[in-house]
Amino acid sequence: MATRLDPNLKKEVKEYGIKDSDKCMQCGLCSAVCPLATTEESFPRKMIRLTQMGLRDKLIASPEPWLCYYCGECSDFCPRGAEPGETMMGLRRYLTAQYDWTGFSKRFYTSEKFEIFSIVGFALLIGLGFLLFAGDSPDMEKARLSTFVDAHVIEYLDLAMAAILSALLLSNVYRMAKFQMGDLIGKVPLSMYLGEVKELIVHFITQKRFSKCHDQRQWFIHLLIMTSYCSVFFMVVVLLSGLGGLLPAFQTDEVRSIIHPYNLIGYYATFGLLYGTTYAMIGRLRKNRPAYKHTHSTDWCFLILLWLTAFTGILINAFRSIGVDGLPLATYVIYVLHLMVAVPMLVFEVPFAKWSHLAFRPVTIVLTNVKKKYHENLKFNPSFAKQVENKSVGTGN
Ligand code: SF4
Ligand code: SF4
Repeated sequence: MATRLDPNLKKEVKEYGIKDSDKCMQCGLCSAVCPLATTEESFPRKMIRLTQMGLRDKLIASPEPWLCYYCGECSDFCPRGAEPGETMMGLRRYLTAQYDWTGFSKRFYTSEKFEIFSIVGFALLIGLGFLLFAGDSPDMEKARLSTFVDAHVIEYLDLAMAAILSALLLSNVYRMAKFQMGDLIGKVPLSMYLGEVKELIVHFITQKRFSKCHDQRQWFIHLLIMTSYCSVFFMVVVLLSGLGGLLPAFQTDEVRSIIHPYNLIGYYATFGLLYGTTYAMIGRLRKNRPAYKHTHSTDWCFLILLWLTAFTGILINAFRSIGVDGLPLATYVIYVLHLMVAVPMLVFEVPFAKWSHLAFRPVTIVLTNVKKKYHENLKFNPSFAKQVENKSVGTGN
């Protein structure tokens, strides 16, 4: 395939927050100090080179931006102040927009006005929905959410949202896989992909590659936010309906014991989200770590929405539990505010922005392993090579 040079690429990636890569003189020090780069997956220098040369197709097919966790060590060592760590972050934004076939991600990342307008607009729509459709006789004596809003309606809307967001995210993951694997995507036997399922799960849950960076606190914060958020997601999306009646539903007027498993998950998630996001926001204000030196507007948006989701979640529980009857009006108002923050955060961040990275990273690690094993087998396993050859002859490839 002919390699296309695109003179506009450098300008285009700048829209995603890459500012200083022009200063790079390709000395390679950043790749040498990066604890995660290897001979086969060498970065960040190579990624800067692809961008400078306008090699768009190669850049879009590159797994490397997803193998970096933005510890910032490379930026600390760069003699030119070219901020290679931030370049990798900007490239992840750029790639997310390339995988997204709807074009939403591109607008979200490249226009602050669009970002704010979509979040505020969607939040207001949710608020309006409650004004128009919430129950007309909420219990004002005792805080009971079921009298304010029908739990079944919330449950159906929740499941519909989960289905739509999953479909969008998976389609973007598939596009990423196609870009990264190229012609190999159909050639690699299914058994090779299946052999990596365990790795996929382990990397998703532990984010263990990040632990190889020297600044382990960053890994801890990353893991804390990620596991807290996934617990909330699990409770809201899976347990809200009580797994179709198999378990008690998550949203209920019943006040559960403080050691009820749902409450324990809730404590962990609330603590993790509040601690992790507050830590990251303070770090970004102080710019006290290389990874916190540059903050894109979508980073603020992500952290603020997460923080508010956790905080309003605490307030709902506090208002409904105060005294014997709780504070009904305050509970209903804060419930609406909670959904006005939490739903846009899910809808925009899961398929189009930061939360999609949780899928792109482990899938990239798996695809990289699969590619490596495929080529090793071709080289050292004659029967495998024969099988591939026969298949190619059979399909005319
Ligand atoms: S980003 Fe900095 S350290 Fe890396 S190759 Fe360029 S000049 Fe060298
Ligand atoms: S930010 Fe860390 S992981 Fe990413 S390229 Fe730089 S040194 Fe490597």
